Amino acid sequence: MATGYLYHELFGWHDTGTFAGEISADPKKGLQPYSNFEHSDTKRRIHELIVVSGLINHLVRIEPRHATEKELLRVHTQRHIDFIKTQSDSRMGGDAGDLTTPFGKGGYEIATLGIGGILNMVDAICTKKIKNGYALVRPPGHHALADFGMGYCLFANGALGIKHAQEIHGIKKIAVVDWDVHHGNGTQDIFYSDPSVLTISIHQDGLYPLNSGMRSEQGEKAGFGTSLNIPLQAGVGNNGYEKVFDDVVLPAIRKFKPEMIFVASGFDSCVYDPLGRMLLTANGYAKLTKKLMEVADEFCEGKILMTHEGGYSAIYSPFCGQAVIQEMCGKYVLDDPFAGIVDTYPSHRVNLVQEQEINEAAKLVLDIP
Ligand code: ZN
Repeated sequence: MATGYLYHELFGWHDTGTFAGEISADPKKGLQPYSNFEHSDTKRRIHELIVVSGLINHLVRIEPRHATEKELLRVHTQRHIDFIKTQSDSRMGGDAGDLTTPFGKGGYEIATLGIGGILNMVDAICTKKIKNGYALVRPPGHHALADFGMGYCLFANGALGIKHAQEIHGIKKIAVVDWDVHHGNGTQDIFYSDPSVLTISIHQDGLYPLNSGMRSEQGEKAGFGTSLNIPLQAGVGNNGYEKVFDDVVLPAIRKFKPEMIFVASGFDSCVYDPLGRMLLTANGYAKLTKKLMEVADEFCEGKILMTHEGGYSAIYSPFCGQAVIQEMCGKYVLDDPFAGIVDTYPSHRVNLVQEQEINEAAKLVLDIP
């Protein structure tokens, strides 16, 4: 069965304004105006590589549509939806909540176009038109809370896809694997007391949000045990991530037995990312994808939906996207041209601290119901 793919040019028109990376430009502080780290180039260039390499010919394009307000209300409050709409309609656009999530006029419509596309992809997977799929959407979603936008995220894209799969297609249990370098706090928060969704986040410890994503955050009430956090010190490479999957992520999924797997796919865990300090390479991401596909075949008839999150290296993110999607569809049309440089770093070896952190996280699998 085929692999679905979603991208629309309007995703590149989501305007994050004039910034000095992640802080506001300010001549008094010597901060020259430039662009936001969250910039259209990274995602647009992933799409362009997929087209130029010919990989697009092996994928089934999923058309986007605008998600309705009713669909947004499955996760978000009316207050939050109205707030984003008001900001989006104002002359200069606005901010989703935390004052570091700017968007231009019409940002609401761009965000809902991506979300509707994800819902279409859920439909295509659940009706077996495609086996799995990659939604290259922008803005991202895994930091957004029910009532608050933050960390470049307006709405909770992945969580909205999960609710859709459960409500419309009767999927009961879903696991989310978040390999973005930042903690998937929004997804975790939305399902914190919900035993039907297992959220697994692998992230650089103490990066963003601060004081979030600790191993002690395990869910509450009926959902206790279904939030699993794997914080790691900076510097983990391909072998470390593979060990995380072998020792924690895959055993967790096998214990939970989901019917579908969502992936919050951030390429900011890659070796060249300006915001993260991890060392994953394109081939590393491909190996993690392969592992997830194997476990998805065991429990979910292969159902995996990846929603795009972070990833801020305009040069290298495209090769990560290419490698992941190649693995998903089994067509290998392009090798990572950087592999000769980045795949051989000695830092890919697992060190003692990493081993301890992974062992501690592995103990949490026992609490998964
Ligand atoms: Zn991120």
